[in-house]
Amino acid sequence: MGAARLNADVVVESRARLGEGPIWDDRREQLFFVDIEGESVHCFDPSRAVHSSFPVGRTVGAVALREDGGLVLAAHDGFFLVEPRGEDLRPHGELRVDSQLVRFNDGKVDPRGRFLAGTMHWEQQRPVGALYVLEPDGTARVLLESVTISNGLAWRGDGAVVYYIDTAQGCVEAFDYDIERVELSNRRSIVRMESGSPDGMTIDDDGCLWVAVWGGSRVERINPVTGELLSVVKLPVSQVTSVAFGGAGRDVLYITTARRGLGAEALGREPHAGDLFAVEPGVTGPPAHRYAWSSSQGERSSGA
Ligand code: ZN
Repeated sequence: MGAARLNADVVVESRARLGEGPIWDDRREQLFFVDIEGESVHCFDPSRAVHSSFPVGRTVGAVALREDGGLVLAAHDGFFLVEPRGEDLRPHGELRVDSQLVRFNDGKVDPRGRFLAGTMHWEQQRPVGALYVLEPDGTARVLLESVTISNGLAWRGDGAVVYYIDTAQGCVEAFDYDIERVELSNRRSIVRMESGSPDGMTIDDDGCLWVAVWGGSRVERINPVTGELLSVVKLPVSQVTSVAFGGAGRDVLYITTARRGLGAEALGREPHAGDLFAVEPGVTGPPAHRYAWSSSQGERSSGA
């Protein structure tokens, strides 16, 4: 049987330079996403059809939800906390990466409330990036070195496997994930893209992966056990960056895209580059994990 074919529609004309990292907030019933090069966090409330954004003042690779209702960012050279409408942006933890060489890119929260985020080489040529884990207390360490463009995190339902993408490798990979000690092992390739490059990724409630294909005008649904291509979502734009399930029933797949690097001719062909798209693919996704930092915990640790 061939792969099922679906089409995604524009839901927000966000015109992002580099839209990325969508995440559904199931308490507010809103979608957050970033415009990395637009240096901003965007928010879309589908029930009211309201789109807003706030500036971060630096490149922002990923946004994630916090247990206490705020947000955590992997932005430019380190981690930051911010409140949902952009209030009270402040650095979080000590980690600073070499921003001459790399910047923070994609990130996700693991099933135990830690934030994993990786960096990418600015020129996308050399494996000088890394994947980091940010613990709830703000301490951070390297989980994986020699990364060129860190992307695409998703955990299997039991948390024992994490799926990962270094876009420069051209494939989706898996690691065994030690959820107690936060360690990666048994690295293996699941599937290699035939055209375009794998970018952001999420997992559905059947345990299948949805992978955004940069330069491929599509999202692929993949069985991570067999590598089989199950569905293809087509988009009228080439630079497809990331995906997340959202909507009140988490039955809508939201898809971010990018406008960067397209000349006038290309933008004439794909005027919706950088917009937010959506499709109802007939499956649902699990709720996003939340970073386990809280202000009371912060006060406890600083007062100890
Ligand atoms: Zn990405």
